[in-house]
Amino acid sequence: MTLTERLEALRSRIARACAEAGRDPSGVELLPVSKRQPLPLIQEAAALGFHRFGENYVQEGAAKAEAAPGLEFVLIGPLQRNKAKAALQAFREILSLDRPDLADRLRRLAEELDVVRPVWLQVDLWNEATKLGGCAEADLPALLDALGGDARLPLEGLMAIPPPGEATAFRQLAGLRDRLQQELGRPLRLSMGMSGDLEAAIAAGSDQLRIGTAFFGERAS
Ligand SMILES: *Cc1c(COP(=O)(O)O)cnc(C)c1O
Repeated sequence: MTLTERLEALRSRIARACAEAGRDPSGVELLPVSKRQPLPLIQEAAALGFHRFGENYVQEGAAKAEAAPGLEFVLIGPLQRNKAKAALQAFREILSLDRPDLADRLRRLAEELDVVRPVWLQVDLWNEATKLGGCAEADLPALLDALGGDARLPLEGLMAIPPPGEATAFRQLAGLRDRLQQELGRPLRLSMGMSGDLEAAIAAGSDQLRIGTAFFGERAS
């Protein structure tokens, strides 16, 4: 399958899911996830109108950002403190902010580098995806405190990778988003849904789908 064919199939899946959920497809952002995909393929996607891509690894994303200055990359993978500076330099947004010490470090470095980088709080409501990162709901207040409403790291929304087969996961996340919006008195977006579960994510109100294989095809191992 070519990229164009895959994109067409993906768009019809999204359109069908939106129709079933009574949602306007223009309200669902498609973020292509380009981890372990070669730059020429990413450039092919750019020619189809995509300019922002999700990457999991700081080093890989930074190399791509340097090689393709016209494109934008956002970090969706776990971030270690010692890579925080490189991440702020290479990525336009950080979707995987999940701990107070990381928030502290990002704030200090964002000031030093004089950059603004929207952040998403990665949450884990299932207490099992530790390898994938994510903050438990009970720890969110401490994380928000550490972020301190810093204008250099504006809070964009919540990101999550629910375990497969967890049928109510997306609704739980939507509920958390609603509660947090109420508390903070400002809108928050929800980044949830991947190649295998985008329909359920759309039904539960996802604002952003992060799509790797259904967009680019299988990744290099
Ligand atoms: C790899 C990855 C995706 C995309 O996964 P696919 O199943 O290939 O669509 C989305 N989000 C995160 C955080 C990922 O690591």
